[in-house]
Amino acid sequence: MFDVLLTLCLLDQPGLCADRTIPTAAATCPEALAAAAERIEGWRARHAVSAIRCGSMVVPPLPFEEVLPGLHVHRAAVALADPANGGTIGNIAFVVGESGVAVIDSGGSRAAGEAVVAAVRAVTDRPIRLVVLTHAHPDHVFGATALADAGATIWAHHALPEVLALRMGPFEAQGLRQIGADFVGTEAPRVDHAVQDSAAVDAGGRALELRAWPVAHSGADLTVLDPATATLLAGDLVFDRHLPTLDGSLRGWQRVLEDLQGLAAEWVVPGHGGPLLPWPEGLEPTARYLARLEADVRELIAGGATLSEAAARAAEAERGAWLLFDEHNPRNATVAYTELEWE
Ligand SMILES: [Zn+2]
Repeated sequence: MFDVLLTLCLLDQPGLCADRTIPTAAATCPEALAAAAERIEGWRARHAVSAIRCGSMVVPPLPFEEVLPGLHVHRAAVALADPANGGTIGNIAFVVGESGVAVIDSGGSRAAGEAVVAAVRAVTDRPIRLVVLTHAHPDHVFGATALADAGATIWAHHALPEVLALRMGPFEAQGLRQIGADFVGTEAPRVDHAVQDSAAVDAGGRALELRAWPVAHSGADLTVLDPATATLLAGDLVFDRHLPTLDGSLRGWQRVLEDLQGLAAEWVVPGHGGPLLPWPEGLEPTARYLARLEADVRELIAGGATLSEAAARAAEAERGAWLLFDEHNPRNATVAYTELEWE
């Protein structure tokens, strides 16, 4: 298996450079270079590309744990994106079938995606057939181009391309600022299969069920059910320890959690925390926080509180139950207030 190794420097920040790998399934060096040509061409628009050679991947694998047979999860740090975590602050999973692998989410940078490919290869030489993106937030989507280069087709909610495109500019600026070199070479993934409602996919002898949801945590939430282990990979519809972050609709998220509750699963892999919780008990802290947020914001609105007063006071009773409360709660309260004030 040959990969292409090269160095990228940003044209508008020439001091910001990184060694990158383009993973391929090619059997020879010329084939690897040909397979990587489109990615290299794309990078040339915004990077100085040098030291192109082929070899085998030198990226250290991201650590994964096999939590159930054939289901591997990287439990990300509960943290904000920074150079040390490379933006990988959302969980990532992969399932190994008889003749292939499916990856669920991809990390927060191109470097993270390369480390996911390395992690899969450390477990099996079966091909990565597909990657499923649970929504459009940076910590879930920005490693996906590396998985696509390795041969995966990309599946996502039908709204993901539009939701991501709307924010791509700020996401890129923020990624370079917060993460630095690991973010060099990061691009928006191209979705090959847009899921309208539901879809059955095959990782290679291991069937997965995808379901696209109405606006909830975000505008493009999609879940993955792995019937072989009765596990729901919930993306950010379910949080653990990390404060839930609201970027869609509070009432919509609550309705989706009610629908999800009836799902025939025994386990859930949340988007943050875990890595494996019993189902449906695993969704209870998220539902409890959203209920507290809703009740408090309604009461504050009824009492004439301003938006900034609501942002400072809503859901205060939940503070001790979560990490990153101060980082995310004011924004959650702001989104909830804007949604509920006109009801
Ligand atoms: Zn998210």
